[in-house]
Amino acid sequence: MPYFDANATTPLSPAARNAWSEAIDTAWQNPSGPYRAGARVHNLLEKAREKLAAILSCEAKQIVFNSGATEGVNTIFSYCASRGELAKRPVLISPFEHPCVVAAARRFFDDAVVEIPGSREGRWDVVAAAEAVRGQNVSLVALMAANNETGVIQPWREIGEICRDAGVPFLCDASQWAGKKPLKGIGEAGFVTASAHKFGGPKGCGFLVVPKNVTDFRGLVGGEQEHGMRAGTENYPAIAAMVAALEECEARLQSPRVVEERLKWRQRFESDVLQRLPGTRIGGHNSERLWNTVFLILPQGANDRWVRKLDRAGFEVSTGSACSWGKDEPSHVLTAIGFSPEESKRAIRVSSGWETTEADWQAMADALVIVAKEMGSGPGDVEVIRL
Ligand code: PLP
Repeated sequence: MPYFDANATTPLSPAARNAWSEAIDTAWQNPSGPYRAGARVHNLLEKAREKLAAILSCEAKQIVFNSGATEGVNTIFSYCASRGELAKRPVLISPFEHPCVVAAARRFFDDAVVEIPGSREGRWDVVAAAEAVRGQNVSLVALMAANNETGVIQPWREIGEICRDAGVPFLCDASQWAGKKPLKGIGEAGFVTASAHKFGGPKGCGFLVVPKNVTDFRGLVGGEQEHGMRAGTENYPAIAAMVAALEECEARLQSPRVVEERLKWRQRFESDVLQRLPGTRIGGHNSERLWNTVFLILPQGANDRWVRKLDRAGFEVSTGSACSWGKDEPSHVLTAIGFSPEESKRAIRVSSGWETTEADWQAMADALVIVAKEMGSGPGDVEVIRL
């Protein structure tokens, strides 16, 4: 069954599964245990941290293992909001951020959250953001590395540098970048968050990078785990699996051919759909996007009907961010780039994984054409669509 919702989550990769099952059998002890087996797990944990630090271009001690991006983002905003006078300054965010960034910003900074607009092509405006950063004292700037709905690559390197020069904390949510683009250099950008389950690792596991100059970061409080930055017994088997999954993705990303090939499959799919379903549009069409993501705005029919019909035909896609499913709200990402709420209700996100084949992409295009015909023929859902 072709799975096209990899931006929501991915299956556990074989490398992650092996690492997890080995660790759960042989390194299950508490890393803080006062006996040799505990010390051994502690050493393994620190080795995993070093491997991850090498991938991210930061120091091992900057890495906090946690439950994923939502926790990372919440703890960063909570930390910035606790910084006395500095916390009274506004927070700048892009209009494309994930709901966890938007909600955490509002929760901790209330009406001091300033949204700086982006382009019609779904990319944050570096000039406007730089002006805003330099023109006022700011508590934090948040910009994701790549968007979860459109896949548009964001100018996080430029914004990270601007923030560094201005002495302003920067948060880069790398949830969609990790595992799909090389992470080299990102650990120098500022705070960085990601979730393992987006790149073949287990759910409920992720990491946060704390900038070198931040010495008083406290995420969860309690025990002294994670160098005092996140209390709670470390889930070493999950961490081992996450690092193995990421190493596997990074190794694949070393081969330009592998990535180019996948980008071509996505591009062919897009041309095919645009030609066979006239009136279809693509969110962020002319921007550089992740090789796996297409946000289609279809010419007709509500997106939840498309999703159900495609599901019955054997194709799993979504209407956008997994957190927005079931909410009767248009995608804030599409609204921010100029699509009407009505157009946004016709949007479906198609996002492939490493295991997706060229034939899967072709079958996906055929399925869209068949479902489009069904959509045109009346409101009733089709039980089985033969392809
Ligand atoms: N940020 C982005 C860009 C995402 O796509 C997601 C998940 O969809 C998250 C953050 C939150 O990740 P998690 O639910 O694993 O905490």
